[in-house]
Amino acid sequence: MNTIVEATDLARFYKVSRGLFSEPGTVRALAGASFQVKAGETLAVVGESGCGKSTLARLITMIESPTGGHLRIDGNDISGATEDQKKLLRQTVQIVFQNPYGSLNPRQKIGTILEEPLVINTDMPADARRAKALDMLARVGLRPEHYGRYPHMFSGGQRQRIAVARALMMDPKIIVLDEPVSALDVSIQAQVLNLLADLQDEFGLTYIFISHDLSVVRFVADHVMVMYLGRPVETASVEEIFSHPRHPYTKALLSATPVADPKRKRDNIKLEGELPSPFDPPTGCAFHPRCAYADARCKRETPAMSKAGASEVFCFGVEEGRID
Ligand code: SF4
Repeated sequence: MNTIVEATDLARFYKVSRGLFSEPGTVRALAGASFQVKAGETLAVVGESGCGKSTLARLITMIESPTGGHLRIDGNDISGATEDQKKLLRQTVQIVFQNPYGSLNPRQKIGTILEEPLVINTDMPADARRAKALDMLARVGLRPEHYGRYPHMFSGGQRQRIAVARALMMDPKIIVLDEPVSALDVSIQAQVLNLLADLQDEFGLTYIFISHDLSVVRFVADHVMVMYLGRPVETASVEEIFSHPRHPYTKALLSATPVADPKRKRDNIKLEGELPSPFDPPTGCAFHPRCAYADARCKRETPAMSKAGASEVFCFGVEEGRID
């Protein structure tokens, strides 16, 4: 399978005002992320709020531009792309947001919402647009009569199905799913996850699945990238992350995840303290103020990527063999 998304040292910094008499500060929302996603696979990006995962979503969907590094999408380096090239590339990448209540215009009928991307980006005739919208409604499990209804007439799960249908209207290759089931009842989450899996098979889609919850990504991801304060800390296959987490932060996230098999033992690591501000990140390893394994080197130096089995880990403790 070919690589469809490739990020190299990708960064997004923001200048923020610190008051009238002070120099502006810099928020390092994404401080250097390198990863690859193969076509047809799902990369889950997991971490607490503020870890940089939503910034990454905005860069991949080209809502914002990186301030450093490179991002190649479907073979095109977006750093050097013209606005016209980006406009075409944006059709390749679509996004489904967390909140199905906020992401659909309440004054538009579902048919209008679905057809809008085609009206803006293509010269497809009205009857063909309508046929495509009806086809997409069927593929996400909705009925033809839903075409003429308004968003408030649907449940949360149905609205998220509509958001998925809208994302599919431009025949994208990549869909960024930004916490797509977090706002839904647990009973509905599995249905939407199953639908996403079916659509991925049907259309050969590549997913970037953003989540704060490792348990949600377990059954949908091929690979998982755990992020902390704007940087990846561990990347591995989903099996490896769940069977042999290595970075202390991954272990802590997993400790907060329910275990299906009660006989299975897992290190119980409680995550103490708050995520530090990306405005003023800790020196050295950004996780050191919350890490039980931190030593003097961790406070001084930033760990580089090292291989541990099949995982890529950024941790001196793992690199030095202090952490299994
Ligand atoms: Fe903990 Fe040090 Fe590893 Fe950071 S580098 S996670 S502080 S052991």
